[in-house]
Amino acid sequence: MSAVDEKTMEKIVALCKRRGFVFPSSEIYGGLNSCWDYGPLGVELKRNVKEAWWRSMVTSRDDIVGLDASILMHPKVWETSGHVAGFSDPMVDCKKCKARFRADHLETARCPEKPSKKPGECAGELTEARQFNLMFKTQLGPVEDSGAVVFLRPETAQGIFVNFKSVVESSRVKPPFGVAQIGKSFRNEITPGNFTFRTREFEQMEMEFFVPPDEAGKWYDYWCETRRQWYLDLGLREENLRMRTHGDDELAHYSVGCADVEYLFPFGWSELEGVANRTDFDLKRHSEASGENLTFFDNETNTHFTPYVIEPAAGADRATLAFLVDSFEEEKLEKETRTVLHLHPRLAPIKAAILPLVKREEGMVKMGQELAKQLRDAGISAFYDEKSAIGRRYRRMDEAGTPYCFTIDSTSLEDGTVTVRDRDSMEQSRMSAQEVLPFLREKI
Ligand code: ATP
Repeated sequence: MSAVDEKTMEKIVALCKRRGFVFPSSEIYGGLNSCWDYGPLGVELKRNVKEAWWRSMVTSRDDIVGLDASILMHPKVWETSGHVAGFSDPMVDCKKCKARFRADHLETARCPEKPSKKPGECAGELTEARQFNLMFKTQLGPVEDSGAVVFLRPETAQGIFVNFKSVVESSRVKPPFGVAQIGKSFRNEITPGNFTFRTREFEQMEMEFFVPPDEAGKWYDYWCETRRQWYLDLGLREENLRMRTHGDDELAHYSVGCADVEYLFPFGWSELEGVANRTDFDLKRHSEASGENLTFFDNETNTHFTPYVIEPAAGADRATLAFLVDSFEEEKLEKETRTVLHLHPRLAPIKAAILPLVKREEGMVKMGQELAKQLRDAGISAFYDEKSAIGRRYRRMDEAGTPYCFTIDSTSLEDGTVTVRDRDSMEQSRMSAQEVLPFLREKI
């Protein structure tokens, strides 16, 4: 496979558009800055990423439960969490070209005015840094007064903290236990960019793990390693993944430990996920502000305590982008170059392509349609295609990341076998049509 730095984002963005992974939002009206839509293949890929996360965090464990909190929450939540006062980034403006940059990202930012490159190189003067709150405001109900102002949540985590009591009372959980949630968050980012990496509307996959305070260190180490391993198990190459521990100067004031899972994108090492020891800060603050008791009563020791929280907070869009980038290859073959996405079979939007060799051969068509239906009935996404030359159909499936193509030919009609072609090795072998479903189940 080619090295990651040979890949260019432009090629990946073009593939995403061409094959229906990601489209610019509202494109017929010229698009909307930093907003993207997931197309037919992209929506399946992202769903599979979220499904893999949910399975590893919730379904396969007995100590984590799920939650789906609303995006609009009581404004007090954000005052208490510190977001109203402090959820801001320093921003500078260029007085000449009017571009706006994050003051702490000036090294990597690009001036939009050509041929200049760096902020300020267009001979413009940069303003002093000002704090800019990243929360989107809207209003609840028809009256436009200040009392109706609410925020679009900038993180899903607070929805978990404010439901702590309800979850404990309804679900028989006991620390150490976790609450997981997947959902949209919104941040009015100063400099969105790098395709879907930094957008103003995005999806988070967050889990708050509540533990006895003296076990926090142990669980922090556990979640750092468990989350790193999740990306590797789904096929990210180890050399492109690293853990970066935050220095003391980078830590949020309530946090005593934080490490980022970083991926080597074509634009450099960037955060996929943060794992933080948030201490008892959030529960204590919400308890003080709401007057609700958010401690846990341990009836073995007859004591109340406020759990510490270990939080792995990931982005569904960033993970999806990392899997796309890591799996992308332009492979030089003897006579051509093929573009292929080596996606893990569990993530691949289409698991199997069913390809009758000859379009007008009734027997082949019937056998192919039956096989496709059998797979779909079993919950495996199958794509049936009888158009164009077989080589071109294989290439289209390579670009979509489809791990297996099953071809039906004249031998199939005689002995009930099909050809299976492996996306990565391009090797072909025969198997009985009846073996296809168990074969795919095992691979996925
Ligand atoms: P960054 O430093 O890149 O702005 P962050 O440290 O502010 O990210 P967190 O608040 O830790 O991010 O959010 C958890 C995860 O949510 C991030 O690791 C990332 O995957 C995702 N995320 C955060 N902001 C965005 C965004 N603007 N676009 C896409 N995903 C995001």
